[in-house]
Amino acid sequence: MVDVIKNLQVIKKRVAESAMKTNRKLDDIKIIAVTKNVEVERILEAIQGGIDAIGENRVQEALIKYPLIEKEIEWHMIGYLQRNKAKKAVEHFDLIQSLDRISLAQELDKRGKQQNKIVNVLVQVNVSGEESKSGISPEETVEFIKSLSDYENILIKGLMTIAPYTDDPEETRPYFARMKGLFDEVHKLKGRNIDIEYLSMGMTNDFEVAIEEGSNMIRIGTGIFGERNY
Ligand SMILES: *Cc1c(COP(=O)(O)O)cnc(C)c1O
Repeated sequence: MVDVIKNLQVIKKRVAESAMKTNRKLDDIKIIAVTKNVEVERILEAIQGGIDAIGENRVQEALIKYPLIEKEIEWHMIGYLQRNKAKKAVEHFDLIQSLDRISLAQELDKRGKQQNKIVNVLVQVNVSGEESKSGISPEETVEFIKSLSDYENILIKGLMTIAPYTDDPEETRPYFARMKGLFDEVHKLKGRNIDIEYLSMGMTNDFEVAIEEGSNMIRIGTGIFGERNY
């Protein structure tokens, strides 16, 4: 049996230790519990353990869980978002971390207007250039954000990335460092729909390196809930 509360304590301790290396505290790093394929009961345990934000990568799955979790928590969309799911996503999610193309921005803006909502987004960056990953290339990210300036119902809150999986998390360090550089650059951009705050990077395998390189939002699944069964 997976002890969610204990796992959370261990993760928080490790987050605090990594944060200290860059003169930050546990509270400066936002922990998103990634709950894909996790039962509602376990999710409620995590919330009891202090989790206030969860990440789902499929709208359908989130919609099923949504009514079963009555707590006031943040819902983050962290997976590839199809345009035909944008309406539901805007209805239910507090932050869409996977904005990776103009056509999706346009659809989110439209749905935001219809629902009288500002849609908070992170721009997903494909920092490693792997073909299997979605995201804007680092070189194009600043231009991409500038090109969103007409979408008044979108609010760009920062950047998200998924580093390549490796057995040695040290190997991810250059990617995270590159993202921090890009984040600092994006931070200087001005615009009505730009309010840069979050650099979302780091998962169970590599969050310590990510924090050391400047992440302020990590997405942890396995480290909290154990190995997922598909
Ligand atoms: C599954 C997933 C995570 C969490 O991965 P773990 O290795 O289980 O911590 C984080 N981010 C995204 C985008 C994911 O799909």
